[in-house]
Amino acid sequence: MHNAFTIDLEDWFQGLTSTNPLVERWPAFESRVVPATHTLLALLRQHHVQATFFVLGYVADQHPQLIEAVADAGHEIAIHGYYHRFVYQLTPAGFAREIDLSIAAVQRITGRAPIGHRAPYFSFNAQTPWAFTILEERGLRYDSSIFPTRNMLYGFPGAPRFPYRPGNHNLLEFPASTMQLAGRNLPMAGGFYVRALPYSLIRHAIHQLNAQGQPAIMYLHPWELDLGQRYRQVTFRERITHYHGRRGLARKLQRLFSDFSFTTLGHLYTAMVASEPPPAVTPQPAVTA
Ligand SMILES: [Zn+2]
Repeated sequence: MHNAFTIDLEDWFQGLTSTNPLVERWPAFESRVVPATHTLLALLRQHHVQATFFVLGYVADQHPQLIEAVADAGHEIAIHGYYHRFVYQLTPAGFAREIDLSIAAVQRITGRAPIGHRAPYFSFNAQTPWAFTILEERGLRYDSSIFPTRNMLYGFPGAPRFPYRPGNHNLLEFPASTMQLAGRNLPMAGGFYVRALPYSLIRHAIHQLNAQGQPAIMYLHPWELDLGQRYRQVTFRERITHYHGRRGLARKLQRLFSDFSFTTLGHLYTAMVASEPPPAVTPQPAVTA
């Protein structure tokens, strides 16, 4: 059973809600994405893991050699928007521009059209049904932008937990994996959750998914492995979501890569459409009391 390991390739300040809007100030923040990504590449190489890198277009334009190094190491290059915007705060035209800019940025480097997309902050929800149309029109084949649960910033509680075809669109959605506990979907698939939860719980959740014939879709950011960061700009909440559990993360990932088999989402996509394509589903937002 193959699972998918995915990376949202961005610098530490681009995914923080306090520093994200300050694009004109981004050049003043210390860029750490190059060494942090090389740390991650070394870990993946050591465990023979091929991953999907959802690359922020801005990073691709600033660090083309980094994207070349990722592609040369055999990983899949996919897109993550250009300025790391919440999709549900964009107009359809604004989202289309993010997609066009990010496709152009990675294609200039790799010479290949990407087939996969992940929205910043997993920010597809019931308000963004038009987003799939825009991806489809641009030739993207899969998306991984839905978190079928709720956290402080994002989530789509009514969405399916497992890969599906959204409505009548000709692409596949790979939601970030969740675990079920007491009848609720809880996040566990990456970032803060992998850092905060005990490894035994993550392992149990992946075993449960695989026992149902479902791949785990895991995600990570390079800055989560960067122990040298010193943030002065961030808020208290961001200090927790950004810092917590970083020290134990490399060890957890080593155990994860030893216990489970991972590949790219592109490979999972190809395997799924060749065998049994997932069902078409039009998710309804959960009814909240
Ligand atoms: Zn991101």
